[in-house]
Amino acid sequence: MTFVTGLQCRECGQDYPKEPLHVCETCFGPLEVVYDYDRIKKTISREKIEARAKNLWRYRELLPIDGEPQAGFHSGFTPLIRADRLGEVLGVKELYLKDDSVNHPTFSYKDRVVSVAISKAIEFGFDTVSCASTGNLANSVAAHAAKAGLNCYVFIPDGLEQGKIIGSAIYGPRTVAIKGNYDDVNRLCSEIADKYGWAFVNVNLRPYYAEGAKTHGFEIAEQLGWKLPRHVVVASAGGTILPKLAKAFKELKLVGLVDDGDCKIYTAQAAGCAPIVQALKKGTDLISPVKPNTIASSIAIGNPADGYYVLQAVKDSGGWGEGVTDEEILDAIKLLARTEGIFTEPAGGTEVAAAKKLIQQGRIPRDESIVISITGNGYKTLEAVARSVEKPFTIRATLESFDDLYHQLCQPAAEKAIAGET
Ligand SMILES: *Cc1c(COP(=O)(O)O)cnc(C)c1O
Ligand SMILES: [Zn+2]
Repeated sequence: MTFVTGLQCRECGQDYPKEPLHVCETCFGPLEVVYDYDRIKKTISREKIEARAKNLWRYRELLPIDGEPQAGFHSGFTPLIRADRLGEVLGVKELYLKDDSVNHPTFSYKDRVVSVAISKAIEFGFDTVSCASTGNLANSVAAHAAKAGLNCYVFIPDGLEQGKIIGSAIYGPRTVAIKGNYDDVNRLCSEIADKYGWAFVNVNLRPYYAEGAKTHGFEIAEQLGWKLPRHVVVASAGGTILPKLAKAFKELKLVGLVDDGDCKIYTAQAAGCAPIVQALKKGTDLISPVKPNTIASSIAIGNPADGYYVLQAVKDSGGWGEGVTDEEILDAIKLLARTEGIFTEPAGGTEVAAAKKLIQQGRIPRDESIVISITGNGYKTLEAVARSVEKPFTIRATLESFDDLYHQLCQPAAEKAIAGET
């Protein structure tokens, strides 16, 4: 069962077969998966999807597999959470969080794209999978490769957080840290992919990989009762997820799963690495690469491969974008944790902080439905917030010691409580 007709160049429209290809030989444009939407429309229905297991393969007709899925049987279908306490602070009426910080198995949105890429790698008969990563992708590729019994090499920039490094190493891949930033890693990986012939999920399998990101959007719509939100804020790094959200919403309408409605999409970047937001604000389609300098390491890509398509998707939807400082990111991580009980990494802090800014600017109206994507988990990046949270109070193991502490912490309320007890 497949509804994929082939690959096609996004720029010149040349057709390519369903193979591990990613760039057009004629114009070097990126290749995109093409589906037979008429046939999908005839077979797919809300009821059919709702009856399936709660993972990303419930949208399998709109994913680029030939036959049965081979990986990612528990990835996706993360919670969409009504966020009234955060909404109150931000002064908005209808706020939701799409919480990929609890995606299975490695706690970021990357488990979506990797599920599809590893499934394709197995279909194509590769025995070694690999990736160029800012951290989360390496975690996910390593975990999915372990589960599938594939050899795995992951490439990361040196100097990543411990949680990201150990969070790959535990699954037993070979981890290679490159002296440099992600853009150096990515350049090298293109050469390695050519020479070694491995399945690089975000290089030669990129057209298939990227399709997995659509499931983030499919789920948002399904979880809202098959409706699109009016606004979505999501971080951009290499530029995969944002244009795929736009594609997901478009496809849902094309195949009749969602009746109508328009969603404005907003890109969130760290001010220390905001090439896409800068181009957006300058009003140019030309993205000038930057040298990343931010705590948001998982979105620190200075030369985004699909930045141009992020700009197009943002503009087509009527959305916008914002850059936020590291300080705003840290404040937003704490705000999210303290209002909604969700601990995100700096990328998620960037998403919340950018949403806050866009709301304050009046770019996002306060009385319409808003989804903030939370794309990564804070337990991987403890270093980022370690210095900005309260340290534990260390006391002796006596009631007296605690009474003293309690007295200090919250008198006079504490005095009353103690008096009442004794
Ligand atoms: C990779 C990543 C993103 C977005 O990256 P794109 O390359 O633009 O799809 C956002 N948040 C986190 C935590 C990520 O790891
Ligand atoms: Zn082309």
